[in-house]
Amino acid sequence: MSAHTPLVPDRLEQPEDANALDAGVWPDGAMRTPSGVLAIGGVSATDLATRFGTPLYVMDETVVRARARRARAAFDAAAAAHGTTAHVYYAGKAFLSTEVVRWVTDEGLAVDVASGGELAVALAAGADPRRIGFHGNNKSVAEISRAVEVGVGSIILDSDIEIERVAAAAAARGVIQSVRVRVNSGVHAETHDFLATAHEDQKFGFPLSRAEEVVARIRTLPSLEFGGLHCHIGSQIFGTAGFLESAARLVEVHARLSASGEVRVLNLGGGFGIAYTSTDDPTPIEELAAGIVAAVAAECAARGIPVPVVAFEPGRLIVGPAGVTLYEVGTVKPVHLDDDRTRVYVSVDGGMSDNARPALYGAQYSARIASRTSTVDSALVRVVGKHCESGDIVVDAEYLPGDVAPGDLLAVPATGAYCFSLSSNYNYVPRPPVVAVADGSARVIVRGETIDDLLSRDAGVRPTEGSE
Ligand SMILES: *Cc1c(COP(=O)(O)O)cnc(C)c1O
Repeated sequence: MSAHTPLVPDRLEQPEDANALDAGVWPDGAMRTPSGVLAIGGVSATDLATRFGTPLYVMDETVVRARARRARAAFDAAAAAHGTTAHVYYAGKAFLSTEVVRWVTDEGLAVDVASGGELAVALAAGADPRRIGFHGNNKSVAEISRAVEVGVGSIILDSDIEIERVAAAAAARGVIQSVRVRVNSGVHAETHDFLATAHEDQKFGFPLSRAEEVVARIRTLPSLEFGGLHCHIGSQIFGTAGFLESAARLVEVHARLSASGEVRVLNLGGGFGIAYTSTDDPTPIEELAAGIVAAVAAECAARGIPVPVVAFEPGRLIVGPAGVTLYEVGTVKPVHLDDDRTRVYVSVDGGMSDNARPALYGAQYSARIASRTSTVDSALVRVVGKHCESGDIVVDAEYLPGDVAPGDLLAVPATGAYCFSLSSNYNYVPRPPVVAVADGSARVIVRGETIDDLLSRDAGVRPTEGSE
Protein backbone atom coordinates (compact mmCIF):
# COMPACT_ATOMS: atom_id res chain seq x y z
CA MET A 1 0.00 0.00 0.00
CA SER A 2 1.43 3.38 -0.96
CA ALA A 3 1.82 5.96 1.77
CA HIS A 4 -0.05 8.45 -0.41
CA THR A 5 -3.33 6.71 -0.93
CA PRO A 6 -6.33 8.61 0.41
CA LEU A 7 -6.60 5.92 3.08
CA VAL A 8 -3.44 7.11 4.79
CA PRO A 9 -2.70 10.72 5.63
CA ASP A 10 0.77 11.90 4.54
CA ARG A 11 1.92 12.29 8.11
CA LEU A 12 1.26 8.68 9.08
CA GLU A 13 3.97 6.10 8.55
CA GLN A 14 3.61 2.42 9.32
CA PRO A 15 5.49 2.04 12.59
CA GLU A 16 8.12 -0.64 13.10
CA ASP A 17 6.42 -1.49 16.36
CA ALA A 18 2.73 -0.70 16.76
CA ASN A 19 3.05 -1.33 20.52
CA ALA A 20 5.67 1.41 21.07
CA LEU A 21 4.81 4.49 23.12
CA ASP A 22 6.21 7.69 21.58
CA ALA A 23 7.71 9.68 24.46
CA GLY A 24 6.65 12.97 22.86
CA VAL A 25 2.98 12.00 22.90
CA TRP A 26 2.49 9.81 26.00
CA PRO A 27 2.60 11.23 29.54
CA ASP A 28 6.06 11.10 31.13
CA GLY A 29 6.42 7.77 32.90
CA ALA A 30 3.93 5.90 30.68
CA MET A 31 5.37 2.44 30.01
CA ARG A 32 4.60 -1.21 29.33
CA THR A 33 4.68 -3.55 32.33
CA PRO A 34 6.62 -6.82 31.88
CA SER A 35 3.37 -8.46 30.75
CA GLY A 36 2.92 -5.77 28.08
CA VAL A 37 0.12 -3.81 29.73
CA LEU A 38 0.21 -0.01 29.49
CA ALA A 39 0.85 1.70 32.84
CA ILE A 40 0.23 5.40 33.50
CA GLY A 41 1.50 6.98 36.71
CA GLY A 42 2.47 3.49 37.84
CA VAL A 43 -1.06 2.09 37.48
CA SER A 44 -1.86 -0.52 34.84
CA ALA A 45 -4.59 0.15 32.31
CA THR A 46 -6.23 -3.20 33.04
CA ASP A 47 -6.45 -2.36 36.76
CA LEU A 48 -7.91 1.04 35.93
CA ALA A 49 -10.52 -0.46 33.61
CA THR A 50 -11.46 -3.13 36.15
CA ARG A 51 -11.83 -0.65 38.99
CA PHE A 52 -13.42 2.28 37.20
CA GLY A 53 -14.82 0.93 33.91
CA THR A 54 -14.47 2.35 30.42
CA PRO A 55 -14.47 4.86 28.88
CA LEU A 56 -12.22 6.46 31.45
CA TYR A 57 -10.36 9.75 31.57
CA VAL A 58 -7.01 9.22 33.29
CA MET A 59 -5.02 12.26 34.48
CA ASP A 60 -1.47 11.87 35.70
CA GLU A 61 -1.18 14.23 38.66
CA THR A 62 2.62 14.09 38.68
CA VAL A 63 2.70 15.19 35.05
CA VAL A 64 0.23 18.06 35.54
CA ARG A 65 2.23 19.32 38.50
CA ALA A 66 5.55 18.98 36.68
CA ARG A 67 4.23 20.82 33.62
CA ALA A 68 2.77 23.61 35.78
CA ARG A 69 6.12 23.96 37.59
CA ARG A 70 8.02 23.94 34.34
CA ALA A 71 5.80 26.63 32.76
CA ARG A 72 6.08 28.75 35.90
CA ALA A 73 9.89 28.41 35.91
CA ALA A 74 10.16 29.16 32.18
CA PHE A 75 8.17 32.40 32.37
CA ASP A 76 9.83 33.45 35.65
CA ALA A 77 13.29 32.98 34.13
CA ALA A 78 12.35 34.77 30.92
CA ALA A 79 10.91 37.71 32.89
CA ALA A 80 13.87 37.89 35.29
CA ALA A 81 16.25 38.09 32.33
CA HIS A 82 14.61 41.42 31.47
CA GLY A 83 14.21 42.79 34.97
CA THR A 84 10.51 42.07 35.36
CA THR A 85 8.20 39.39 36.74
CA ALA A 86 5.65 37.04 35.21
CA HIS A 87 2.14 35.95 36.14
CA VAL A 88 1.14 32.53 34.84
CA TYR A 89 -2.58 31.78 34.80
CA TYR A 90 -3.83 28.27 34.17
CA ALA A 91 -6.63 28.58 31.59
CA GLY A 92 -9.23 26.53 33.43
CA LYS A 93 -11.44 25.87 30.43
CA ALA A 94 -8.91 23.27 29.22
CA PHE A 95 -9.84 21.01 32.16
CA LEU A 96 -11.40 22.20 35.38
CA SER A 97 -12.02 20.32 38.61
CA THR A 98 -11.24 21.28 42.19
CA GLU A 99 -8.35 18.79 42.35
CA VAL A 100 -6.69 20.15 39.22
CA VAL A 101 -7.09 23.71 40.52
CA ARG A 102 -5.34 22.63 43.74
CA TRP A 103 -2.49 21.00 41.82
CA VAL A 104 -1.77 24.03 39.65
CA THR A 105 -2.21 26.60 42.42
CA ASP A 106 0.10 24.49 44.66
CA GLU A 107 2.65 24.80 41.88
CA GLY A 108 2.34 28.56 41.83
CA LEU A 109 -0.09 29.26 39.01
CA ALA A 110 -3.02 31.66 39.10
CA VAL A 111 -6.31 30.60 37.46
CA ASP A 112 -8.37 31.94 34.57
CA VAL A 113 -12.10 31.29 34.39
CA ALA A 114 -14.63 32.17 31.72
CA SER A 115 -18.04 31.66 33.36
CA GLY A 116 -19.80 31.68 36.70
CA GLY A 117 -19.57 27.88 36.77
CA GLU A 118 -15.80 27.87 36.23
CA LEU A 119 -15.49 30.58 38.90
CA ALA A 120 -17.48 28.41 41.31
CA VAL A 121 -15.14 25.44 40.74
CA ALA A 122 -12.02 27.57 41.28
CA LEU A 123 -13.48 29.01 44.48
CA ALA A 124 -14.65 25.59 45.69
CA ALA A 125 -11.03 24.45 45.28
CA GLY A 126 -9.94 27.22 47.60
CA ALA A 127 -8.17 29.30 44.94
CA ASP A 128 -7.27 32.80 46.11
CA PRO A 129 -9.81 35.07 44.35
CA ARG A 130 -7.13 37.74 43.97
CA ARG A 131 -5.29 35.27 41.74
CA ILE A 132 -8.26 34.62 39.45
CA GLY A 133 -8.80 36.27 36.07
CA PHE A 134 -12.34 36.36 34.68
CA HIS A 135 -12.76 36.22 30.88
CA GLY A 136 -15.62 35.94 28.44
CA ASN A 137 -17.32 37.99 25.77
CA ASN A 138 -20.76 37.87 27.39
CA LYS A 139 -20.45 37.64 31.16
CA SER A 140 -23.89 38.04 32.67
CA VAL A 141 -24.68 40.80 35.14
CA ALA A 142 -25.02 38.08 37.80
CA GLU A 143 -21.60 36.63 36.91
CA ILE A 144 -19.98 40.06 37.03
CA SER A 145 -21.63 40.83 40.32
CA ARG A 146 -20.42 37.53 41.81
CA ALA A 147 -16.88 38.09 40.52
CA VAL A 148 -16.77 41.58 42.07
CA GLU A 149 -18.32 40.29 45.30
CA VAL A 150 -15.70 37.57 45.79
CA GLY A 151 -12.91 39.94 44.82
CA VAL A 152 -11.43 38.40 41.67
CA GLY A 153 -8.05 39.89 40.85
CA SER A 154 -8.93 40.97 37.33
CA ILE A 155 -11.90 41.07 35.03
CA ILE A 156 -10.98 41.09 31.36
CA LEU A 157 -13.31 43.55 29.65
CA ASP A 158 -14.60 42.57 26.27
CA SER A 159 -17.07 45.26 25.15
CA ASP A 160 -18.21 48.84 25.79
CA ILE A 161 -21.35 47.54 27.46
CA GLU A 162 -19.26 45.44 29.82
CA ILE A 163 -17.14 48.42 30.91
CA GLU A 164 -20.29 50.07 32.24
CA ARG A 165 -21.62 46.84 33.79
CA VAL A 166 -18.43 46.11 35.70
CA ALA A 167 -18.10 49.75 36.79
CA ALA A 168 -21.68 49.70 38.08
CA ALA A 169 -21.18 46.39 39.93
CA ALA A 170 -18.02 47.67 41.60
CA ALA A 171 -19.58 51.04 42.44
CA ALA A 172 -22.61 49.29 43.98
CA ARG A 173 -20.26 47.42 46.31
CA GLY A 174 -18.06 50.42 46.97
CA VAL A 175 -14.93 48.71 45.64
CA ILE A 176 -12.39 49.43 42.94
CA GLN A 177 -12.21 46.55 40.48
CA SER A 178 -8.99 45.89 38.59
CA VAL A 179 -9.67 45.29 34.90
CA ARG A 180 -7.80 44.41 31.72
CA VAL A 181 -8.86 45.26 28.20
CA ARG A 182 -8.98 42.47 25.68
CA VAL A 183 -7.79 43.66 22.31
CA ASN A 184 -7.46 41.99 18.96
CA SER A 185 -3.89 42.40 17.83
CA GLY A 186 -5.04 41.42 14.33
CA VAL A 187 -2.75 38.41 14.57
CA HIS A 188 -4.42 35.05 14.44
CA ALA A 189 -2.15 32.06 14.82
CA GLU A 190 -2.70 28.37 14.47
CA THR A 191 0.04 25.77 14.56
CA HIS A 192 2.88 26.95 12.26
CA ASP A 193 1.28 29.90 10.51
CA PHE A 194 -0.14 33.18 11.51
CA LEU A 195 -2.36 35.59 9.73
CA ALA A 196 -2.00 39.30 10.43
CA THR A 197 -4.74 41.74 9.51
CA ALA A 198 -5.84 45.19 10.60
CA HIS A 199 -9.30 44.00 11.58
CA GLU A 200 -10.34 40.63 12.87
CA ASP A 201 -13.80 39.34 12.05
CA GLN A 202 -14.50 37.58 15.34
CA LYS A 203 -16.45 38.15 18.52
CA PHE A 204 -13.75 38.70 21.15
CA GLY A 205 -12.39 41.98 22.43
CA PHE A 206 -11.85 45.47 21.04
CA PRO A 207 -9.95 46.32 17.88
CA LEU A 208 -6.46 47.52 18.81
CA SER A 209 -7.24 50.83 17.10
CA ARG A 210 -9.87 51.56 19.76
CA ALA A 211 -7.69 50.76 22.78
CA GLU A 212 -6.79 54.35 23.69
CA GLU A 213 -10.39 55.54 23.57
CA VAL A 214 -11.58 52.53 25.59
CA VAL A 215 -8.89 52.94 28.24
CA ALA A 216 -9.61 56.68 28.45
CA ARG A 217 -13.23 55.83 29.26
CA ILE A 218 -12.17 53.28 31.92
CA ARG A 219 -9.86 55.84 33.51
CA THR A 220 -12.79 58.23 33.99
CA LEU A 221 -14.66 55.61 36.06
CA PRO A 222 -13.65 55.76 39.74
CA SER A 223 -14.75 52.15 40.44
CA LEU A 224 -12.36 50.70 37.85
CA GLU A 225 -8.58 50.43 37.82
CA PHE A 226 -7.02 49.80 34.40
CA GLY A 227 -4.30 47.17 34.79
CA GLY A 228 -3.23 46.54 31.20
CA LEU A 229 -3.95 45.09 27.80
CA HIS A 230 -4.83 41.47 27.16
CA CYS A 231 -4.66 39.48 23.97
CA HIS A 232 -5.02 35.79 23.01
CA ILE A 233 -4.06 34.97 19.45
CA GLY A 234 -5.16 31.36 19.09
CA SER A 235 -4.51 27.81 20.15
CA GLN A 236 -2.15 24.91 19.46
CA ILE A 237 0.56 27.33 18.25
CA PHE A 238 4.06 25.93 17.63
CA GLY A 239 6.46 28.73 16.68
CA THR A 240 7.15 32.15 18.20
CA ALA A 241 6.37 34.20 15.07
CA GLY A 242 2.70 34.87 15.80
CA PHE A 243 3.41 35.76 19.43
CA LEU A 244 6.24 38.12 18.42
CA GLU A 245 4.13 39.96 15.86
CA SER A 246 1.30 40.28 18.34
CA ALA A 247 3.64 41.44 21.13
CA ALA A 248 5.11 44.14 18.89
CA ARG A 249 1.66 45.44 18.00
CA LEU A 250 0.53 45.41 21.62
CA VAL A 251 3.62 47.09 23.08
CA GLU A 252 3.17 50.00 20.69
CA VAL A 253 -0.27 50.68 22.14
CA HIS A 254 0.84 49.80 25.68
CA ALA A 255 3.53 52.53 25.33
CA ARG A 256 0.99 55.13 24.23
CA LEU A 257 -1.28 54.22 27.15
CA SER A 258 1.69 54.46 29.54
CA ALA A 259 2.19 58.09 28.53
CA SER A 260 -1.07 58.99 30.28
CA GLY A 261 -0.89 56.74 33.36
CA GLU A 262 0.73 53.65 34.81
CA VAL A 263 0.09 50.37 32.98
CA ARG A 264 1.38 47.50 35.08
CA VAL A 265 0.73 44.35 33.10
CA LEU A 266 0.81 43.07 29.54
CA ASN A 267 -1.07 39.79 29.12
CA LEU A 268 -0.27 37.82 25.97
CA GLY A 269 -2.68 34.94 26.60
CA GLY A 270 -2.16 31.23 25.95
CA GLY A 271 -2.19 28.92 22.97
CA PHE A 272 1.09 27.02 23.39
CA GLY A 273 0.96 23.81 21.33
CA ILE A 274 1.45 20.19 22.39
CA ALA A 275 2.10 16.91 20.54
CA TYR A 276 -1.01 14.92 19.67
CA THR A 277 0.77 12.60 17.25
CA SER A 278 4.38 11.68 16.54
CA THR A 279 4.62 14.26 13.77
CA ASP A 280 3.87 17.19 16.11
CA ASP A 281 7.05 18.85 17.35
CA PRO A 282 6.11 21.66 19.73
CA THR A 283 8.63 24.36 20.61
CA PRO A 284 9.85 23.92 24.20
CA ILE A 285 8.14 26.37 26.53
CA GLU A 286 11.50 27.75 27.74
CA GLU A 287 12.29 28.81 24.18
CA LEU A 288 8.85 30.33 23.62
CA ALA A 289 8.93 32.20 26.93
CA ALA A 290 12.44 33.56 26.35
CA GLY A 291 11.63 34.65 22.80
CA ILE A 292 8.35 36.34 23.62
CA VAL A 293 9.59 38.21 26.70
CA ALA A 294 12.77 39.29 24.85
CA ALA A 295 10.58 40.72 22.08
CA VAL A 296 8.43 42.61 24.60
CA ALA A 297 11.57 43.96 26.30
CA ALA A 298 13.10 45.04 23.00
CA GLU A 299 9.92 46.84 21.94
CA CYS A 300 9.77 48.58 25.33
CA ALA A 301 13.41 49.64 25.10
CA ALA A 302 12.81 51.06 21.63
CA ARG A 303 10.01 53.19 23.08
CA GLY A 304 11.83 54.14 26.25
CA ILE A 305 9.33 52.59 28.65
CA PRO A 306 9.88 50.11 31.48
CA VAL A 307 9.16 46.43 30.79
CA PRO A 308 5.75 45.66 32.31
CA VAL A 309 4.87 42.59 34.31
CA VAL A 310 4.16 39.96 31.66
CA ALA A 311 1.24 37.56 32.00
CA PHE A 312 0.50 34.31 30.17
CA GLU A 313 -2.41 31.87 30.16
CA PRO A 314 -1.42 28.33 29.20
CA GLY A 315 -4.22 25.75 29.31
CA ARG A 316 -3.58 22.84 26.96
CA LEU A 317 0.18 23.03 27.64
CA ILE A 318 -0.38 22.20 31.31
CA VAL A 319 -2.97 19.42 31.17
CA GLY A 320 -3.13 18.13 27.58
CA PRO A 321 -0.17 15.73 27.68
CA ALA A 322 -1.11 14.50 31.19
CA GLY A 323 -4.36 12.86 30.06
CA VAL A 324 -5.06 9.49 28.47
CA THR A 325 -8.51 8.12 27.60
CA LEU A 326 -9.12 4.39 27.98
CA TYR A 327 -11.76 2.64 25.90
CA GLU A 328 -12.80 -0.94 25.31
CA VAL A 329 -13.03 -2.20 21.76
CA GLY A 330 -16.56 -3.42 20.96
CA THR A 331 -16.47 -4.31 17.28
CA VAL A 332 -13.90 -4.57 14.51
CA LYS A 333 -15.33 -4.21 11.02
CA PRO A 334 -13.41 -4.31 7.73
CA VAL A 335 -15.12 -1.92 5.33
CA HIS A 336 -14.39 -2.65 1.65
CA LEU A 337 -13.94 0.51 -0.35
CA ASP A 338 -14.72 0.83 -4.06
CA ASP A 339 -11.21 0.14 -5.33
CA ASP A 340 -10.32 -3.14 -3.67
CA ARG A 341 -9.05 -1.52 -0.56
CA THR A 342 -10.22 -2.09 2.96
CA ARG A 343 -10.34 0.16 5.97
CA VAL A 344 -10.73 -1.48 9.34
CA TYR A 345 -13.16 0.33 11.63
CA VAL A 346 -12.48 -0.26 15.31
CA SER A 347 -15.47 0.84 17.41
CA VAL A 348 -14.94 1.83 21.03
CA ASP A 349 -17.39 2.43 23.87
CA GLY A 350 -17.13 6.25 23.83
CA GLY A 351 -16.50 8.75 21.07
CA MET A 352 -17.56 12.31 20.30
CA SER A 353 -19.32 12.59 23.68
CA ASP A 354 -15.98 12.27 25.52
CA ASN A 355 -13.77 13.77 22.79
CA ALA A 356 -15.48 16.27 20.51
CA ARG A 357 -12.24 17.63 19.03
CA PRO A 358 -11.97 15.36 15.97
CA ALA A 359 -15.59 16.15 15.03
CA LEU A 360 -15.22 19.88 15.86
CA TYR A 361 -11.80 20.63 14.42
CA GLY A 362 -10.69 17.54 12.53
CA ALA A 363 -8.20 17.07 15.36
CA GLN A 364 -5.71 14.20 14.98
CA TYR A 365 -4.92 11.72 17.73
CA SER A 366 -3.05 8.45 18.03
CA ALA A 367 -3.89 5.17 19.81
CA ARG A 368 -2.35 1.99 21.17
CA ILE A 369 -3.73 -1.29 22.46
CA ALA A 370 -3.37 -0.84 26.22
CA SER A 371 -4.18 -4.30 27.59
CA ARG A 372 -1.45 -6.27 25.75
CA THR A 373 1.25 -6.12 23.14
CA SER A 374 1.11 -8.07 19.90
CA THR A 375 3.65 -9.34 17.41
CA VAL A 376 1.13 -9.44 14.56
CA ASP A 377 1.84 -7.02 11.67
CA SER A 378 0.18 -3.67 12.05
CA ALA A 379 -2.90 -2.73 10.06
CA LEU A 380 -4.37 0.64 9.18
CA VAL A 381 -7.46 1.34 11.26
CA ARG A 382 -9.90 4.14 12.00
CA VAL A 383 -11.02 4.27 15.61
CA VAL A 384 -14.64 5.39 15.89
CA GLY A 385 -17.12 5.90 18.68
CA LYS A 386 -20.61 4.59 19.34
CA HIS A 387 -22.61 7.70 18.41
CA CYS A 388 -25.09 8.21 15.60
CA GLU A 389 -22.84 10.42 13.45
CA SER A 390 -20.44 9.32 10.75
CA GLY A 391 -18.14 12.10 11.97
CA ASP A 392 -17.91 10.34 15.35
CA ILE A 393 -14.20 9.64 14.92
CA VAL A 394 -11.73 9.17 17.74
CA VAL A 395 -8.58 8.52 15.70
CA ASP A 396 -8.92 9.14 11.98
CA ALA A 397 -6.02 6.93 10.93
CA GLU A 398 -3.64 4.80 12.96
CA TYR A 399 -1.67 1.58 12.69
CA LEU A 400 -2.61 -0.96 15.33
CA PRO A 401 -1.60 -4.61 15.61
CA GLY A 402 -3.69 -6.47 13.00
CA ASP A 403 -5.20 -8.76 15.62
CA VAL A 404 -6.95 -5.89 17.44
CA ALA A 405 -10.17 -7.45 18.72
CA PRO A 406 -13.28 -6.94 20.83
CA GLY A 407 -12.34 -6.80 24.52
CA ASP A 408 -8.98 -5.10 23.92
CA LEU A 409 -8.44 -1.92 25.86
CA LEU A 410 -7.49 1.00 23.65
CA ALA A 411 -5.66 4.07 24.98
CA VAL A 412 -5.63 7.49 23.32
CA PRO A 413 -2.94 9.86 24.65
CA ALA A 414 -2.90 13.68 24.90
CA THR A 415 -6.57 13.91 25.87
CA GLY A 416 -6.07 15.96 29.05
CA ALA A 417 -7.25 19.24 27.53
CA TYR A 418 -10.59 20.10 25.91
CA CYS A 419 -12.00 16.55 26.09
CA PHE A 420 -13.66 16.36 29.52
CA SER A 421 -14.45 20.09 29.29
CA LEU A 422 -16.17 19.70 25.91
CA SER A 423 -17.93 16.44 26.80
CA SER A 424 -21.64 15.93 26.24
CA ASN A 425 -24.46 13.47 26.84
CA TYR A 426 -25.12 12.95 23.14
CA ASN A 427 -27.16 9.76 22.67
CA TYR A 428 -27.70 9.85 26.44
CA VAL A 429 -24.26 8.42 27.02
CA PRO A 430 -23.19 9.16 30.62
CA ARG A 431 -19.95 11.16 30.96
CA PRO A 432 -17.00 9.01 32.08
CA PRO A 433 -15.32 9.53 35.43
CA VAL A 434 -11.95 11.24 35.72
CA VAL A 435 -9.35 9.29 37.65
CA ALA A 436 -6.09 10.78 38.87
CA VAL A 437 -3.04 8.54 38.95
CA ALA A 438 0.23 9.22 40.76
CA ASP A 439 3.00 7.03 42.14
CA GLY A 440 1.12 3.78 41.60
CA SER A 441 -2.24 4.76 43.03
CA ALA A 442 -5.49 5.91 41.45
CA ARG A 443 -8.50 7.84 42.74
CA VAL A 444 -11.64 9.35 41.27
CA ILE A 445 -11.47 13.16 41.02
CA VAL A 446 -14.70 13.59 39.07
CA ARG A 447 -17.42 10.98 39.49
CA GLY A 448 -18.80 9.43 36.31
CA GLU A 449 -22.43 9.97 35.42
CA THR A 450 -24.96 7.19 35.81
CA ILE A 451 -28.16 6.51 33.88
CA ASP A 452 -29.98 7.68 37.02
CA ASP A 453 -28.12 11.00 36.81
CA LEU A 454 -29.35 11.37 33.25
CA LEU A 455 -32.96 10.45 34.08
CA SER A 456 -32.96 12.68 37.16
CA ARG A 457 -33.12 15.81 35.01
CA ASP A 458 -36.06 14.62 32.91
CA ALA A 459 -39.10 16.21 34.55
CA GLY A 460 -41.43 13.72 32.88
CA VAL A 461 -39.96 10.57 34.43
CA ARG A 462 -42.62 8.89 36.61
CA PRO A 463 -41.85 6.75 39.64
CA THR A 464 -41.86 3.08 38.68
CA GLU A 465 -44.27 0.59 40.22
CA GLY A 466 -43.35 -0.30 43.78
CA SER A 467 -41.31 2.84 44.46
CA GLU A 468 -42.73 5.94 46.09
C1 LIG B 1 -8.61 29.32 25.67
C2 LIG B 1 -7.85 30.47 26.20
C3 LIG B 1 -6.59 30.26 26.75
C4 LIG B 1 -5.90 28.92 26.77
O1 LIG B 1 -5.62 28.44 25.51
P1 LIG B 1 -4.69 27.13 25.37
O2 LIG B 1 -4.64 26.90 23.90
O3 LIG B 1 -5.36 26.03 26.10
O4 LIG B 1 -3.38 27.49 25.97
C5 LIG B 1 -5.94 31.35 27.29
N1 LIG B 1 -6.52 32.58 27.30
C6 LIG B 1 -7.74 32.81 26.79
C7 LIG B 1 -8.32 34.16 26.83
C8 LIG B 1 -8.44 31.77 26.21
O5 LIG B 1 -9.64 31.99 25.68
